[in-house]
Amino acid sequence: MKRQQEEFTALYCRLSQDDGREGESNSIVNQKEYLMKYAKEHGFPNPKFYVDDGYTGTNFDRPSFKEMSSDIEKGLVKTVIVKDLSRFGRNYIEVGSYSEIIYPEAGVRFIAIMDNVDTGSLESNEFAAFTNLFNEWYPKSTSKKVKEVKKAKGLAGEHLGAPPYGYLRNPDDKTRWLVDEEAAAVVRRIFSLCMQGKGVSAIATALWEDKVLTPSAYKVSKGIGVAKKSGHPYNWETSVIASILENVAYIGVTESFKSTRLGFKSRKRIPTAKDRRTYIEDAHTPIIDRDMWEKVQMIRANKRRPTKSGLTSIFSGLLYCADCGAKLSLATANGYTHFRCSMYKRTSRAKECTQHYIREDALKQLVLKQLQQFLSYLQQFERVFIRRQIDATLAERRYELSAKQKQIEKDEKRIKELDRLFRKIYEDNVNGKLNDERFYKLSDGYEAEQEQLKQEIEDLTAEVSEADTEATNVARLIAVTRKYTRIDELTPEVLNAFVDKIVVHEREKKDGKRTQKIDIYYSYVGIVDIPTDEEMREMEREYMQRTTRQTA
Ligand SMILES: [Zn+2]
Repeated sequence: MKRQQEEFTALYCRLSQDDGREGESNSIVNQKEYLMKYAKEHGFPNPKFYVDDGYTGTNFDRPSFKEMSSDIEKGLVKTVIVKDLSRFGRNYIEVGSYSEIIYPEAGVRFIAIMDNVDTGSLESNEFAAFTNLFNEWYPKSTSKKVKEVKKAKGLAGEHLGAPPYGYLRNPDDKTRWLVDEEAAAVVRRIFSLCMQGKGVSAIATALWEDKVLTPSAYKVSKGIGVAKKSGHPYNWETSVIASILENVAYIGVTESFKSTRLGFKSRKRIPTAKDRRTYIEDAHTPIIDRDMWEKVQMIRANKRRPTKSGLTSIFSGLLYCADCGAKLSLATANGYTHFRCSMYKRTSRAKECTQHYIREDALKQLVLKQLQQFLSYLQQFERVFIRRQIDATLAERRYELSAKQKQIEKDEKRIKELDRLFRKIYEDNVNGKLNDERFYKLSDGYEAEQEQLKQEIEDLTAEVSEADTEATNVARLIAVTRKYTRIDELTPEVLNAFVDKIVVHEREKKDGKRTQKIDIYYSYVGIVDIPTDEEMREMEREYMQRTTRQTA
């Protein structure tokens, strides 16, 4: 019989292209050094490296990971240590199934240093509330699996109207829509051009140049429409493009005037009260993802029209004055494209604001630098970002809030009961069983209680949804950042994907040096406090110390 091999500590490292820039704190060399230092300081015996260099974290199909799994099966591994969870894997559900189920069952302790995860320590899950809250939302906004589920659900949608450009009626069931891939590609292109900062007429020109058939010409070509004599087959009208960009059908939502079915769990409401429309989500397969669609609506709400002299800028519509809140307006002088507060320009005599002059090229540099810093921060410290961004008290209170949710339901019931009671005393009063004085006294009491309950429901609902909204917004911004491994150039697409607006402060002179502050409002979350390189290194050291204290 073989002598039992000695147990060891697995130190797992991973790096791939989609982890961003090389030579930073996530390089394999740094990970190894960091893990070895940790293992030594905490007395973990027989450290052994498992290194997957050049393998993505989105799945577990990695040679060293497999080797480690087989060693775990053989009972050779006592502890698995990674720098942070994203090194281990980028699919939270799978990561969770390893760290929370598979490893504990195999008797393996799992430590993700930077995330403060240690299955061997009870205290370590002080941040579990965040992680769980976040994980609950994250897969919903990005996971492909979820998209597949949506596709299947989409078959449930019934359509009474004719499908818009991009969809076809299902020949087997006229109430269902199918994606018409050929037209859907054009729809996607139109959205993407809008994301790149192109206006509707520029989009029309691009389609004309490429001889793309208009929706009506396309229908004719497929034998499903009646030919319009006047229309040129490639002459896209701007109104047609505008209506494509605004159509909710492309995110799988259908408008209905009859149905009351609401096939979605989301608390989020698309305004319906005004026109009494009903929106059914997941009615059919989306062509455009929701984040992009919403961004396009924002871009269009801040339409970037060229100035009278035909000038445009990637920043048009995004810049605001820090002092008066007016938009900055674009101009050119001495060969420099620049922005100035529009209030200053309008009130040049009364001087209701100051210039807030900023050159476009300087702004480009400033914004590019900040976006690069932001991306680097998220790539290395995603969890830290989540914790900082989601209000700690809110996350912790979410469990408490679920109790409030029950209270809301109770209150709603009581309101209905009061309605019933009111009807009863009204009838009794009409029948003469209850005199007027008693009736008014009782009805006043019921009314007051109802008012109070309604107010309570309103407050509780606001509290509950606040926690959900924060987590969702953070998850959505993270989903955006994961589409980029690096930002080398400030394109309109990058700018639109990451930024909602930029607030420009007045220039200041400090010690003879000119400085100018800008506040970037990131998509969904607003201002983000981005740590500097030095602060990031400091954070790493802090984590190292914190876990040291804990195990000591
Ligand atoms: Zn101003």
